[in-house]
Amino acid sequence: MAEPKTTELMEKIVSLCKRRGFIFQSSEIYGGLNGFWDYGPLGAELKRNIKDCWWRSMTQLREDVVGLEASIIMHPRIWEASGHTSTFSDLMVDCLLTKKRFRADQIEPQSGTAYFYTGATEDGTGKETKDVFSVLLPPGKPPESARKVAKQFYQQRSINNPTLLGERVEQVKDSTKYNPENGSLLTEPRPFNLMLETYVGPVQSSENKSYLRPETAQAIFVQYKSVLEASRQKVPFGICQIGKAFRNEINPRNFTFRSREFEQMELEFFIRPEEVIQKMTGSVAKLSDSQPSTLNPQPNWGWELWHKYWVEERVKWYESIGLSRDTLVEYWQKKDELAHYAKATVDILFKFPFGTQELEGIAARGDFDLTQHQKFSGKSMEYFDEEAKAKYVPHVIEPSAGVDRLALALICNAYCEDQAPDEKGKMETRVVMKFHPRIAPLKVAVFPLLKNKPELVNKTKEVRDLLRPHMTVFYDEAGAIGRRYRRQDEAGTPFGVTIDFETLGEKGPDLKDTVTLRDRDSMKQERMKISELVPLLVEKIR
Ligand code: ATP
Repeated sequence: MAEPKTTELMEKIVSLCKRRGFIFQSSEIYGGLNGFWDYGPLGAELKRNIKDCWWRSMTQLREDVVGLEASIIMHPRIWEASGHTSTFSDLMVDCLLTKKRFRADQIEPQSGTAYFYTGATEDGTGKETKDVFSVLLPPGKPPESARKVAKQFYQQRSINNPTLLGERVEQVKDSTKYNPENGSLLTEPRPFNLMLETYVGPVQSSENKSYLRPETAQAIFVQYKSVLEASRQKVPFGICQIGKAFRNEINPRNFTFRSREFEQMELEFFIRPEEVIQKMTGSVAKLSDSQPSTLNPQPNWGWELWHKYWVEERVKWYESIGLSRDTLVEYWQKKDELAHYAKATVDILFKFPFGTQELEGIAARGDFDLTQHQKFSGKSMEYFDEEAKAKYVPHVIEPSAGVDRLALALICNAYCEDQAPDEKGKMETRVVMKFHPRIAPLKVAVFPLLKNKPELVNKTKEVRDLLRPHMTVFYDEAGAIGRRYRRQDEAGTPFGVTIDFETLGEKGPDLKDTVTLRDRDSMKQERMKISELVPLLVEKIR
């Protein structure tokens, strides 16, 4: 079947999310709140499964990573040390055409001819807008270029076929009001505070001002010594955390992709500085002299190999929950894109229907964060490494992912339409969410073939109770069996168990206590003993 167009596909996904209880707009009966989302019954299970899988792979299956659950509101000085107070409150300007945002003080002054417009009307319909706009052209460019840009601006305001109004031309010198990339007018500079503020205590005074954390990472840095001592870990080791983060995003968009409240899953993995490794092992292994496909941590690894190792680990984890490598892109940030403290950053991007965008960033952050906290708190962040007989501030590799973004990626990845026969054998379009069983919200649905036969109903409830301690089970007796299968296909339930007259032994003793197990993707059914269900399904959902 042909792939639906991307906007059409996103509309279908958003509508399914609401209809089936994955994601709702927050505060919907009051008109919603931009950038905030609620997860319904299926969405809540999906998110929980994502977090459980991540936590298990990051801590419980490893010896060198431990967990932390820190408070959302922390000492405001933390955000000064991390740089969030200053970088999250710059004056910013937005391009009126592309919406690209720039720091106001970084716009290069430009000179040329500015074309001003007072609005536009639509040919034929008389539709009109009075939004003013202007474009700056460098010397020598024809007026048509300005008109082209202005028409695009008005087209974005629903004037599909615009006639420009009130064109006026003026020479400007050293202006910072225009986007250097396309000449479009910028918004006025606006203070842009990305952190959500609150007050700790009943008095709203500036000393009481605090912030809802914009990332979970900083709590890990400020607690790293306490965790280290309590857990008796040794560098190299990691601390991971899952928790809410808040950013006052100016442009929440693409459904839940960019929200104001979201959850992060972050690991800070602490490693030895290279000079210490050099002293200990006589050399530092680099990316260029290893086989990255067989990455096995070694004492002589420098930051490059640890960084690459975590990129690989993370991609493998995405594969393990159903995002195949061909849906992901590993983007190595270029030198001029890197944050000033980062030695290297890899973004793991997912091919969303609305574009290939970041799921997770994996940064080699050096000792920037711990050194900053040492400076701002006055407390030593140094670690004494007994094996190396050296004292140092550890360096850090940080894989940082978003739960909500990943939930959206998994939903987009799972959405599928195929053809399946209805009750009368006629082919119809089937919507099926092909979640990996590991993260599927419901693992199995159990159905009595008929709801008006108490023996079938009772037996089905017995099977439900047998499975329940091991997995999420959904009992459904309403409607024709085909309809019930379809409902579970849409919820992404990988397995369906039907209890019929054979189960009751009505077709002979051989089939007594057997059921049919239906596979969501192939729609194939096989008969098996009830006693085989638990081990078989547990194996598939682990
Ligand atoms: P972006 O460039 O998309 O704004 P970022 O580089 O600022 O993201 P980080 O600060 O590195 O993001 O945060 C780590 C992860 O947290 C991101 O990869 C993403 O999965 C998630 N995340 C960040 N901001 C948001 C948001 N506003 N809504 C949902 N998830 C987010």
